[in-house]
Amino acid sequence: MRYCQRCVCPENYAIPLTFDEQGVCSACRVHEEKESIDWKERENKLRTILDKYRSTNGKNYDCIIPVSGGKDSHYQTYLIKVIYGMNPLLVTFNHEMNTKRGLRNLTNLVKRFELDHLRFTPNPAAIKKLSIYTIRRMGDMFWHSHCGIYTYPVQIAVKYNIPLIIWGEQGFMDLGGMFSHFDMVEMTKKFRVEHGLRGYDWQDMLSEENDITPKDLFWAMYPTDQEIDRVDVRGIYLGNFIPWNHKIQTELMIKKYGFESGPPHRSFNLYENVEDHVSNGLNDYLRYLKFGYGRATDHASIDIRFGRMSREQGIAMVEKYDHQEPYDLDIYLKWTGLVKKDLFEAVEKMRDRQAWKKISSGDWKLIDSITNHLDDPGVEVSRLPLNPDSYYILQPNPPLPEPKEYQFM
Ligand SMILES: [Zn+2]
Repeated sequence: MRYCQRCVCPENYAIPLTFDEQGVCSACRVHEEKESIDWKERENKLRTILDKYRSTNGKNYDCIIPVSGGKDSHYQTYLIKVIYGMNPLLVTFNHEMNTKRGLRNLTNLVKRFELDHLRFTPNPAAIKKLSIYTIRRMGDMFWHSHCGIYTYPVQIAVKYNIPLIIWGEQGFMDLGGMFSHFDMVEMTKKFRVEHGLRGYDWQDMLSEENDITPKDLFWAMYPTDQEIDRVDVRGIYLGNFIPWNHKIQTELMIKKYGFESGPPHRSFNLYENVEDHVSNGLNDYLRYLKFGYGRATDHASIDIRFGRMSREQGIAMVEKYDHQEPYDLDIYLKWTGLVKKDLFEAVEKMRDRQAWKKISSGDWKLIDSITNHLDDPGVEVSRLPLNPDSYYILQPNPPLPEPKEYQFM
């Protein structure tokens, strides 16, 4: 397989990448745009948009911020409330695979920024059925979370007549370079289904055999075109207006607002995905079983683009973390009643044969990884004398104990 010559992304990356003649991927090239953009002008554009939606009669919220309680939720809320003086409604879809720390962060967010907050918890029994179904169907145990996050805030926009939804960074732009900063993409119904939900909508989840009916999925139903038109719903990404830099932003939120970072889980990055067990854990491990790479590849690639890590250090992080078995595997098995073999069987047909080979014992062997490509020339951005395992701050330190189960509420 080919690997980006600057970061550590493989050619079978889940967000489709392209490589240029130097072997540098589209995500790295889109990242370079951050250097040439006139951010002052972008910020002025943002202020103009916010002013347009600011409630003039004081009878409604100015906007919605979808929040999980993670680092970006804190930073989005900080910008919108503190810097730009808006009155947002915070909206959370409860994915139910919460860490204790994630819940503390969510509470912290609402209390510290003194805002109204609406949180929707779907029926846990329905979520369990859905998670088992989606793991078998697409090797994804967390589809319900993506669906809820991309749907529920839009339902609330329609119900409460709040046209403006403010999202954080555009993940497919930052992680995969699928869009440019010059496209000024906004959140749409098409993006939600094609990318956010892997092409599956709620109707595709109905299953007699698994007893999944429409009443399990009201929260997953995107408003109609007429409803969207009536309220004139619009979803903007702050990453198009503000030069997004998660490490600096998160450290500001730790210092100023008490955001808690998390202990390492299959990555050196202690700021990302603190709020749930599975994004760095089992759900990402399933990606590793399918494609041969995992979360440390994402995190190292981002840090390489920012010049915080050399490619060599990034490869060392991939080698150290991507294959690690997640601690939440047991939590999930206990919750669902599945056995480990079921999970491996579910992803068996999705194994990318470029990365994996079935050996005579019946086990799978990783045959292609960036660690097999150490002779590639590589295009270095920087080579810093930093240890990536220590430059993320664990706060509070030492970590508070995590219960070994999901926190549904
Ligand atoms: Zn790259």
